[in-house]
Amino acid sequence: MTIYNLGSINIDHVYRLAALPRVGETISSLDHALGLGGKGANQSVAAARAGAQVRHLGAMGTGDDWVLDMLGAAGIDTGAVARLDGVATGHAIILVDAEGENSIILHGGANRALPAGLVTGGLAAIGPGDILMMQNETTLQAEAAAHARAAGARVIYSAAPFEIAALRAVLPHVSILAVNEVEARDTFAAFGEALPIAGLLITRGAKGAEYRDLETGRIWEQPAFRVQAVDTTGAGDCFAGWFAAGLSRGEDIATTLRNASAAAALQVTRKGAGNAMPTRAEVAAFLA
Ligand code: ATP
Repeated sequence: MTIYNLGSINIDHVYRLAALPRVGETISSLDHALGLGGKGANQSVAAARAGAQVRHLGAMGTGDDWVLDMLGAAGIDTGAVARLDGVATGHAIILVDAEGENSIILHGGANRALPAGLVTGGLAAIGPGDILMMQNETTLQAEAAAHARAAGARVIYSAAPFEIAALRAVLPHVSILAVNEVEARDTFAAFGEALPIAGLLITRGAKGAEYRDLETGRIWEQPAFRVQAVDTTGAGDCFAGWFAAGLSRGEDIATTLRNASAAAALQVTRKGAGNAMPTRAEVAAFLA
């Protein structure tokens, strides 16, 4: 069983500064760190480290080969990552001041310019038992979801960044919707709680997570593990990737939720996003 993930690939540039620059001001950074980010890449790495077979569908500029190397090193099939001439790889410029406050510039770049043939080419072999994951940081989600469902696969959609029009376009093709607490509230306000999908995953940060089977009405509650959080960036992506990996292995919901919760707890104890996703061995050791 394969997890296909149509998603963003971003390079995070993190600059530590004494203070955020004011208009017209030039300041030197205290240091610079490069990291792998983007909800798509984060979820692919999380699912791959959770032991799933993952094929990533996305796009990048023509440089930045280290990003592909990093995805490949995690065991991800990057054959459906298009390289686009004259378009920048998606990136985030993250400025962090001495108090830990930040300002972020996000440039979608190649993530917002996916070639039209990516869906048919990248999903050519998708079938029953496979899963398509998607988030709202690229184009082509509705086409990809329709293709995957027609082929008998399940579709897990993370409605982030939340956008009602985007959710409305994909909802008819979604099997499981994954949202955080704020996104859940916005979803219910726009569409009601009786969503026309099979399942709903709601993560609530340090309060844990819940999965609702919307066909039977059954609800699973998963408390968060208590840890010292250092950086919660990508926690939701970690949870979603591990959740998809559990489902693709045919694990029951309770086991899947517990593993995903443990993985996300470990992830928040580390700095970074994609590079901070824990491995199966690390999660097993944490739960032992
Ligand atoms: P992000 O946007 O930062 O990726 P999110 O808002 O999508 O996060 P959250 O609901 O904050 O996602 O977190 C996802 C999961 O990560 C939670 O359900 C929980 O299992 C775990 N988690 C998050 N924060 C903590 C924490 N402080 N301690 C333990 N587990 C946490």
